[in-house]
Amino acid sequence: MDWSRSETLALAMHHCTHCRGSGLRLNRKQMLTPCNCVLRGIFRACYRRFVTCATQERFISRVGLEPHAGHKRPLSWGRKDEEYIADFCLVSRRHLDESEYRLFRYHFLLGADWKLCCRRLGIPRGQFFHAVYRIEQKLGRIFRELEPYALYPLNEYFSGASRAQAAHALTPKRHGPSALPEYLRFPAVAKIA
Ligand SMILES: [Zn+2]
Repeated sequence: MDWSRSETLALAMHHCTHCRGSGLRLNRKQMLTPCNCVLRGIFRACYRRFVTCATQERFISRVGLEPHAGHKRPLSWGRKDEEYIADFCLVSRRHLDESEYRLFRYHFLLGADWKLCCRRLGIPRGQFFHAVYRIEQKLGRIFRELEPYALYPLNEYFSGASRAQAAHALTPKRHGPSALPEYLRFPAVAKIA
């Protein structure tokens, strides 16, 4: 996917020394790539939503009707909060290696602080925070670029409108004059010599 400045600008940190608040920077191949501050911002937004979904009272979660791009059944029933919790955990499990996932599980899923994680994993404080940053950046990118349904933007995930539908809705429909009904067509004008 292509990252645009309009998307990264709101997520970038204003005092970031790498992107200077724009959210984009050039990589080694001289191509524009999202800055790490943007990727961490995406992960933290997704993580905040995960904590909200996982800790809310059970009765708050609702069954909802979701539109999707299927041509046979355009709507289906689902429990979006539970789906999000499962997606967040499964996508993280799939894309992190063994050591990263152990830290992710202790710190993000079980809520252990850095002292407890360092003692449990046998790593110094600096190494712990470097690993946390690396995990946040890795998952932030995956949550945004995941196909066909990305976890971020969260409003698109929770509103249920798929990107395919949105793109279809934005595509201008091309109708020739023959597609118009008879009463809307202009009368043919005779050529004047
Ligand atoms: Zn930055």
